[in-house]
Amino acid sequence: MSQVLVLVDHVDGAVRKPTTELLTIAARLGEPAAVFIGQGYDNAAATLAEYGAQKVYQVEGEGIEDYLVAPKAEALAAVVSQAGEVAAVLLASSGENKEIAGRLAVKLDSGLITDAVDVQAGENGPVTVQSVFAAAFSVTASVTKGVPVITVKPNSAEPQTVAGVTPELVSVPVTISDLARTAKVVERRAKEKGGRPELTEAAIVVSGGRGTDGNFGPVESFADALGGAVGASRAAVDAGWYPHSSQVGQTGKQVSPTLYVASGISGAIQHRAGMQTSKTIVAINKDPEAPIFELVDFGVVGDLFKVLPQATDEVLKRK
Ligand code: FAD
Repeated sequence: MSQVLVLVDHVDGAVRKPTTELLTIAARLGEPAAVFIGQGYDNAAATLAEYGAQKVYQVEGEGIEDYLVAPKAEALAAVVSQAGEVAAVLLASSGENKEIAGRLAVKLDSGLITDAVDVQAGENGPVTVQSVFAAAFSVTASVTKGVPVITVKPNSAEPQTVAGVTPELVSVPVTISDLARTAKVVERRAKEKGGRPELTEAAIVVSGGRGTDGNFGPVESFADALGGAVGASRAAVDAGWYPHSSQVGQTGKQVSPTLYVASGISGAIQHRAGMQTSKTIVAINKDPEAPIFELVDFGVVGDLFKVLPQATDEVLKRK
């Protein structure tokens, strides 16, 4: 069976959830194999086995983690050439990974598909689905040349554990080219940890817009009751009510959670561009004509300062 390579996203070996989703998708397409680059493999090993990685390629190259994306593309290309038959390379859709994927596709002379929301096995290789134009269209696509390189949005699959897997560990020595050494990491600063999940990876996102009038309290309380992340529209960010790192949309983050709750957000096209692929969309808006209602699965016409606290109480009662 052909292998499906998954680039492991991790912080010092702590494997991030999108990688477990990709291993689950990889199992549909062939034999899941993880590619681990950087320090901390010992911390990652158990998780990779738990989610069914049959093989782990551990890339070793002097100082590889000291450089930006270029060495990772070289490392993945080296793994592809060492691995034998490879059905696809999967990466979680993030800014960094999309850059790696583009460089890798050029190196492999392969086709590239980014931001897939579904990947299934097809007769001639993986078949992907992308959601475009504010979710108005779905595009089904396949790579027609080379080893398909595919980036997949977080929350596109429910991670499945697999019992009794002991991955074969394969070491891949890589020498980073001078070309890939032209940009170097000079400092890494840990992000301040709130108790909330990372916005782009969260299964639930509750966002607030101009309708909050700067009071994100009810939005945060509802997000916390559901164990979700907090997002914001650009109007809220531009007003200085919430940090830009929480902005959802065309010029902010792209999210694809299981549940997206838009409160006090009108639903401008630029906002939709960042959340249209969410599985279930709920809006709370006091204007029944707000464009966001064209997009939602459930809409509540009402004042967010009344609706959100009631919803929060209901959730907490059921806990
Ligand atoms: P508004 O459009 O002002 O909507 C506020 C809504 O809140 C209204 O529908 C109102 O009925 C409702 N409301 C008011 N009070 C209450 C209440 N008490 N309870 C319930 N509802 C209430 N926007 C983004 O979000 N993300 C982006 O990345 C982004 N990128 C952009 C890029 C470009 C190049 C441009 C030109 C614009 C971009 N925008 C982006 C801005 C976008 O066009 C909208 O201006 C913005 O999304 C509006 O934010 P909003 O929905 O919070 O505010």
